[in-house]
Amino acid sequence: ACHLVWFRNDLRVMDNKALSSACSDPQAKVLALFTATPEQWRAHDVSPRQITFLHQNLIELRDSLAKLGIPLICQTTPDFLSAAQWVLDFAEQQQADALFFNHQYELNERNRDEWLIKQQPSFRVHAFDDALLLPPKSVSNQKGEMYQVYTPFRRAFVTQLTVTDFRSVPAPKSRGAILSIEKQQLLFEHDAVEIAAHFPSGEVAALQRLRLFCRERAQDYQQNRDIPSLDGTSQLSPYLAVGVLSPRQCLNRLLTENPHTFDSPDSGSFTWLNELIWREFYHHLLVAFPHLCRHQPFIEWTKHIQWNSSDTDFNAWKNGLTGYPIVDAAMRQLNTTGWMHNRLRMITASFLVKDLLIDWRRGEQYFIQQLIDGTLAANNGGWQWSASTGIDASPWFRIFNPTTQGKKFDPDGKFVRHWLPELRTVPDQYIHTPHEWAESTRVILDYPTPIVDHKQARLMTLEAFETGKNHS
Ligand code: FAD
Repeated sequence: ACHLVWFRNDLRVMDNKALSSACSDPQAKVLALFTATPEQWRAHDVSPRQITFLHQNLIELRDSLAKLGIPLICQTTPDFLSAAQWVLDFAEQQQADALFFNHQYELNERNRDEWLIKQQPSFRVHAFDDALLLPPKSVSNQKGEMYQVYTPFRRAFVTQLTVTDFRSVPAPKSRGAILSIEKQQLLFEHDAVEIAAHFPSGEVAALQRLRLFCRERAQDYQQNRDIPSLDGTSQLSPYLAVGVLSPRQCLNRLLTENPHTFDSPDSGSFTWLNELIWREFYHHLLVAFPHLCRHQPFIEWTKHIQWNSSDTDFNAWKNGLTGYPIVDAAMRQLNTTGWMHNRLRMITASFLVKDLLIDWRRGEQYFIQQLIDGTLAANNGGWQWSASTGIDASPWFRIFNPTTQGKKFDPDGKFVRHWLPELRTVPDQYIHTPHEWAESTRVILDYPTPIVDHKQARLMTLEAFETGKNHS
């Protein structure tokens, strides 16, 4: 028998249901496939950083598979549909008996897989729910529908999780022959960019980081998670985004190191589990409300808001030149590393939408073009939450004050000074209002004065939302 495994967002040999199942017949010849789809990635605004990270991890995957005696065949085709067509043709050519893959839940990805199945191929197709702890549609309210509020979703989710078998599946056994591989070979053409040394590729690196976090940091997660100058969060998001790590591996390791997690809802480890459940929530929403994949807000009336189309304001935000130090430091962290702390994602998103009144979709797109951990589900969820256009979002009249946020979450300016060296000499007390200090001391700073007055901007935003609401 010949079994094909189509790898997509699941670049790992450990705890991979499709791979494990394809290998369950020890006699079968197993071939691994990967399709690079540059035009599709461009249409989805996938960042060059994530593509480079993906490529690095694919090399690691190829090496791990080779040790198991499984060759990886990588094909470049323009988009998803041509990728599916290539898989069909390849399977035919190889006279494959079965194709194995793990589901993806975004709309175009689901359409691709449905299209392939509709072609009624001559081989069997085995698709698995592998990327989430619980699959979409499996957690619903009493009416059998998807929850539209997070907290009851989480309650139902946890109840169900505790009666679910979420053990990880082991890596398959070696199938014998170790294949020789061309080490230097590029698997697909791309413009490689530098990836921060902070994100080494491969499953081993990801598992090491997971282990360290669960053993040493998870307990203090609740206290430290909102302080961007601390290493308080796991920084595992890039690995989860390309599937080098699975959420089951995360949960199992969390429970091994913190066995009482489920019984202690106030613990740091439960708070971390809660974040993993937000990840699930946003994926479940994409399946329940596919229009979220089509640049649509969840709350209809927000379509009537008149956005500010100024490129000058948008560019100042993008480049970290708004004159609000916490916003600017955050944007420079994003532009330099491709990762941004969660508190800062909320602050910068709120600033773009509620201080500059710029359409959240422009921010969503810019983030995905930069992020190493970009995923449609979490990015769209985060932006719609911040912009008050989404499901169980922040209420539209709640508007972060960027100066107060800075003082609260970066009180001594440690984070700001790291990313804005031009503010190094500003005393702690003024680090979030440097222009006030500069004015009173007549120092000339090489740093912009605030591009908007927060108080005024707030009032204008409230009015714009109100008008949008009444218009509907
Ligand atoms: P930890 O705090 O250690 O959390 C562990 C894991 O849980 C994360 O790796 C992530 O997979 C998941 N997670 C944590 N918080 C959230 C959340 N709020 N929503 C969904 N999943 C979460 N996360 C992404 O993975 N990709 C994105 O493209 C993305 N875009 C965002 C955009 C905005 C505007 C906002 C407000 C949030 C966004 N997030 C996104 C969520 C969150 O900011 C990141 O997941 C988190 O900062 C990653 O850091 P970490 O791995 O240290 O997280």
